[in-house]
Amino acid sequence: MKDKYGRTVDYIRISLTDKCNLRCIYCMPSDGNIFFEKEENLNNDEIYKIVKESAKLGIRKVRLTGGEPLVRKDINELIEKIYLIDGIEEIALTTNGMLLEERLEFLHSHGVKSLNISLDTLNEEKFKYITRGGDIHKVFRSIEKSLKLGIKIKINTVVIEDINKNEIIDLINFTKDRDISLRFIELMPIGEGKKFKGVSNGEIMKIIEDNNLETVILERNKKDGPAKYIKIKDYKGKIGFISAMSNCFCEDCNRIRITTDGMLKKCLNWKSDINLKKVIREGKEEKLLETIKNGIYNKPKMYLFNKQDSNEENRNMNEIGG
Ligand code: SAM
Ligand code: SF4
Repeated sequence: MKDKYGRTVDYIRISLTDKCNLRCIYCMPSDGNIFFEKEENLNNDEIYKIVKESAKLGIRKVRLTGGEPLVRKDINELIEKIYLIDGIEEIALTTNGMLLEERLEFLHSHGVKSLNISLDTLNEEKFKYITRGGDIHKVFRSIEKSLKLGIKIKINTVVIEDINKNEIIDLINFTKDRDISLRFIELMPIGEGKKFKGVSNGEIMKIIEDNNLETVILERNKKDGPAKYIKIKDYKGKIGFISAMSNCFCEDCNRIRITTDGMLKKCLNWKSDINLKKVIREGKEEKLLETIKNGIYNKPKMYLFNKQDSNEENRNMNEIGG
């Protein structure tokens, strides 16, 4: 369906858990995290109901994210259920890759055609530092195995001043012989992200030019979402730019989000104000469709980054579902 600004909304992103097996420095604090209790999280049945009603409103793509979606023990059952919902054409997953390798066959056989894997560095020690303890080899093995299975891979990379800016070209070269999309995502001042200085995509482009890499700008495809893509001559992969901070992409926004605790978010950085969990748990399921419909229709025109507005989201990315 369309929202009141005429944007077609066909994509739902669901945070399956706020918990994570890593602690990336710009996403979660190292300790002192207060997580939702299990019963505060939406259960599989509740998520299924939300997706089923959303599909009736024209939602066609579901992304499962978090926190780390693969730490949720019952994720396989959930995917099995979503896979069978009429209207859902695509299931995708955003993951840090720590638990991915052993799940790939299952995901592949249950409609997961594309994976977004986070990788900010190619250096083992730096990966440990950024993620506070992650094993980069698990990510590498998952990428290679996914490609063999024919699953599309997008790598999400956040570049931070003084941490991984010096690796931009190495990361780009990772796509030379691999058919993957490497997307630079600008650091957003959300939660822990406020403590770091991100590198803008304009600066990254300048670094690419300074290194004399021959680039071609690719035509925008609606399926690319907020990413703009280029190709480097003779490279198999693509390079994408998601420029939330330097180039607002709200005009083409096609998505809603569901937080771990069941709030419908109309926009990434607006506070959540529609409690779908309450609607379901109070036994008012007949109102679920209408509630989601209102949420979609009333999506705000644009985000509130740096606007000092009281509606601005102050949760960390792991709760919202990045
Ligand atoms: N745990 C999974 C992962 O890391 O891919 C899924 C959830 S994580 C919140 C999703 C994405 O959000 C990751 O690619 C991460 O780099 C990104 N992210 C986290 N905090 C961010 C921030 N403040 N600004 C921009 N991206 C952020
Ligand atoms: Fe966990 Fe993903 Fe956040 Fe890293 S970015 S702490 S992997 S949720």
